Amino acid sequence: MLALLAAVSSHALSGAALAADMQADLHLDTPTQLFRRKVGLDADGLEAGLPQLRGGGTNLAVMVLWPPREAKWEAHVESLLSILEKEDARLDAVTLARSPEEARAIAARGGVAMIYALEGAHGIDTTGLVGLRALQARGLALLGLTWSFSNRYAGSSGDAGAGLTEDGRALVAEAQRLGVVIDLSHASATTTLEVCRGSSAPVIASHSDAAGVKAHARNLTDEEIACIAATGGVVGLNLHSTFLGTPAGVRKAADHVEHLRAVGGIGVVALGSDFDGLITPPPDIATAGALGGLWDELRRRGWTEPELQGMRGENFLRAWWVARSLANQP
Ligand SMILES: [Zn+2]
Repeated sequence: MLALLAAVSSHALSGAALAADMQADLHLDTPTQLFRRKVGLDADGLEAGLPQLRGGGTNLAVMVLWPPREAKWEAHVESLLSILEKEDARLDAVTLARSPEEARAIAARGGVAMIYALEGAHGIDTTGLVGLRALQARGLALLGLTWSFSNRYAGSSGDAGAGLTEDGRALVAEAQRLGVVIDLSHASATTTLEVCRGSSAPVIASHSDAAGVKAHARNLTDEEIACIAATGGVVGLNLHSTFLGTPAGVRKAADHVEHLRAVGGIGVVALGSDFDGLITPPPDIATAGALGGLWDELRRRGWTEPELQGMRGENFLRAWWVARSLANQP
């Protein structure tokens, strides 16, 4: 009996020892830099390459497939995805995660889990639902409906667009059926409220700040934050100085986080830095290696470790897990 108890408790202990402290960044444009500079994820000089991710503790990295306006959209997405698949094969330290469980397992053995996100459904402009299914089969976990211009599916905040189109409604339904999380950063307010009010699954804004702290078309109103929170989703803090406001730094970033928390509750806060996305990061959080300063600032403001763990990854992992568990995958 004692031996059995000892075995059970040692199993529990080994389980606890395997559990990784998760830190997720919901929006990294590093793939665009790999494409432009023809370098690998382990190169020096990136804002969120492997050295910076490791230095700052990020072990769940959302890698963004962003088709620029002037590109051949589908072909460009394919180029970025191919680069990431080659990096996954080349680097032991980086591995695609298809589920929260896989991400935790990769992190527990000391690796960095990658998730793929499409930034703008113009990336499946001609391929539509077939294109979405093909990307999901290769690991796509997050679907951003728009980038800075309205597209076939939805209105953008970049051109004060309208809401979902008929194609957009079908796209959201299919994404959620597949367990792909809808991302509303860059979407118009009309799109954002329409999607989150009609959603039974958690929806997120991966890289958006609070308009209540800094008025900007890319920042979320309190109504949008509350609506996303009500779905069980999260809002990832963006570190672009223009969205944070003056003076941009850890204190201003923490102001946005505390506003998100005040409006949406502790479960809504997350991080989506936008590193390597041609942003101007605050001087005191210049790369993913310097994120510790943000956590320290929140600790100074009285945040507990469980609250910080929520922002650093557990809130997103919860939203992703729920979205997948509600899915009806074939
Ligand atoms: Zn963006």
